[in-house]
Amino acid sequence: MQKLGKNHGGYHGETIDLRAVLRDLKIAAQAHGWTTEIFLEHGELKFPVFHHAPSALRNPQSAVRIYISAGIHGDEPAAPLAALKLLQENRWPAGAEICLLPCLNPVGFQLNRRENADGIDLNRDYRNPQAAETRAHIAWLERQPQFNFYLCLHEDWESHGFYLYEQNPDGKISLAEKIIEAVKQVCPVDLSENIEGRPAHGGIIRPILNPLERPDWPEAFYLITQKARQGYTLEAPSDFPLPTRVNALVAAVRAALD
Ligand SMILES: [Zn+2]
Repeated sequence: MQKLGKNHGGYHGETIDLRAVLRDLKIAAQAHGWTTEIFLEHGELKFPVFHHAPSALRNPQSAVRIYISAGIHGDEPAAPLAALKLLQENRWPAGAEICLLPCLNPVGFQLNRRENADGIDLNRDYRNPQAAETRAHIAWLERQPQFNFYLCLHEDWESHGFYLYEQNPDGKISLAEKIIEAVKQVCPVDLSENIEGRPAHGGIIRPILNPLERPDWPEAFYLITQKARQGYTLEAPSDFPLPTRVNALVAAVRAALD
């Protein structure tokens, strides 16, 4: 599979009708018995969180709690589309409790740009939050118990294939190789030895990070310091066809959940 060669200096591929995607998400959530919470409204746009509790468990305390977010960058359409596909297909492990935030930056999607309406990159706003979107998201997160792991769905317009960042400070059993193996079946993996200025191996970046040394926290830094001790930022290559990228992200999430 070849790159499309469309992305010069930024993302120049397909865009999505965000209102239609949000409507379809709501329909799928209702159809499958998920609860919906709105954590922010911006004009007519609603920012939803969908919640799925495992009904069959005798002891709800034993559920594995998983956090999945998408759409923090408004020029990465495969991420909310993957959230929609996951919700429509509704195949989840029996003991899993899922919080799914399918679009953290709907205004950015309406503008087809990475940032919000004020030009703030929300994914650099989690240490001293300025944007209403980030503040509302953090306020919601503060009300949540700990998660077993997080998955943040993204795209990268420059990459040669799918790759991921792993945060695993306690050395838990890694899900990274499993995710890459699953994605390989549906989408090229970026095998570069350096991705985004960091050493990479087989599409996996394991950055050695001290969030306290960095002022501009991405969502993942907030999550790893406050809400989960393991997590993955999943990056689909946005110079490939949109269905391939959606399938890559869906395959990655499924592999992590299995
Ligand atoms: Zn992104």
